[in-house]
Amino acid sequence: MKSIYGKLILGFMASILFSFSIAGYFSIRKNSEEMGRLAVEELESSSEHIANLIHLIDKSDVDRVLKGYSETSEMSFFVETDRVKDVYGKLSGQLLSDNQYKKLLSVVGECVDLRDSTVRKFAKSFEINGKNYIIFVQKDVGKREMIFIDSAMIAVFCMLIAGSITFLIIADIIVKPISRLNKATNELSKGNYRVRVNYTGNDEIARLNRSFNLMAQQLAKQEETRQQFISDVSHEFQTPLTAIQGFATILKNEKLIDEQREKYADIIVFHSKRLSTLSKNMLQLTILEGEDIELELSEFSLIEQVKRVVETQNSLALSKEIEIELNLPKNDILIEADEARLEQVWINLVNNAIKYTNENGVVTIEVKKTTKEVEVSIADTGVGMSKEAISHIFERFYRQDKSRSVEGNGLGLSIVKRIIDLHKGNIDVRSREDGGSTFTVRLPQVRSFHISEKLNVIKKDKDNR
Ligand code: ADP
Repeated sequence: MKSIYGKLILGFMASILFSFSIAGYFSIRKNSEEMGRLAVEELESSSEHIANLIHLIDKSDVDRVLKGYSETSEMSFFVETDRVKDVYGKLSGQLLSDNQYKKLLSVVGECVDLRDSTVRKFAKSFEINGKNYIIFVQKDVGKREMIFIDSAMIAVFCMLIAGSITFLIIADIIVKPISRLNKATNELSKGNYRVRVNYTGNDEIARLNRSFNLMAQQLAKQEETRQQFISDVSHEFQTPLTAIQGFATILKNEKLIDEQREKYADIIVFHSKRLSTLSKNMLQLTILEGEDIELELSEFSLIEQVKRVVETQNSLALSKEIEIELNLPKNDILIEADEARLEQVWINLVNNAIKYTNENGVVTIEVKKTTKEVEVSIADTGVGMSKEAISHIFERFYRQDKSRSVEGNGLGLSIVKRIIDLHKGNIDVRSREDGGSTFTVRLPQVRSFHISEKLNVIKKDKDNR
């Protein structure tokens, strides 16, 4: 039985038959007892009626009247007095035993109740007109019992047919959406992420369908991201590789003068560095996006860190005659964070500020401490960004400048965002095209037991090394 329809119908029939068998057994038993009791009552009153007839009717007419009574009442009986037995109707099976005879003859009013298959029998002794009589009456109740069983069987049969049809309709309502979902799942497993199932209502199946649609939507999104990622990666790799290939071919030319040779070798070095940075950034981002990434927390001076970063970026700023302004608080700020990773954040942001600011511009770095947070903002007087660009800058490989005139690979801000998220902080951007940009990073100042404890472990680890 493979189909769910078959299983449902079979289950329905089995439950109907099982419940009816139990109900039928008890009701037939009860009915038979009740009919037996009624039959005995009927037979007893008949015997009394017969006794009355004998008592009241003229002797010559009794025989004719009793015959008529036997025919109309569908009862067979015999009347016995002075060992003379008059039989009316057709008596069957066992009549009275010697013991029962004796008992009936000894006491007037004595009764005997017998059952022979479906035939109920009853005998009683009477004293009529000074004579002792035994009146024996019998009636076949089998017909009545059969009528009851027949109607019960018809009821079960009708119920099975009507119930099965109704159940099929109900099963159809339940099974159809499941079959649809099954089909859709098969489609999905073949890679068709656009497949969706319709649903109405809020029952379990509708909820299942809704979850399926959500899952398909998510998979479609993931697939799109994956394809976009592959195309971005190959595109980012392609440009420097083409340059390296081209200039390496030129370098093969022996007629090149030393100056040209050096220039082309420099270009090759530049592009290979670019490739190296790109693969390092990709690796870093993959690690940061991994589920089991753990921050190496330690306590350090944020002010010292920012100053260190500015020093590393100073030469680039000087080359463009960009001034770096530092607005630092008088008191030092100690924070608990992953020192190396946080340094990466400031390097990327300050480096971007310098990269996207024209010569003679200004980059202002401000560090503040509020009651709950530490705030670092990096503002520049550079090229700024459109609203459209702002909404995409944290996406991998996104670059506003499609001509790639400024060196970069579009991964820096994705790394920044991920590191800040891991520190449970946030970053926001204010920017206008040609009006400069300000990136503000806020980090929570939570000193939880967990972090301090971890800190100790890391410190101990470092001391041990
Ligand atoms: P890139 O390596 O291209 O700088 P990022 O992820 O660091 O990659 O930045 C993504 C894009 O965001 C940049 O290509 C640039 O268009 C824009 N951007 C980032 N910082 C600035 C800034 N300070 N001023 C203007 N645009 C910026």
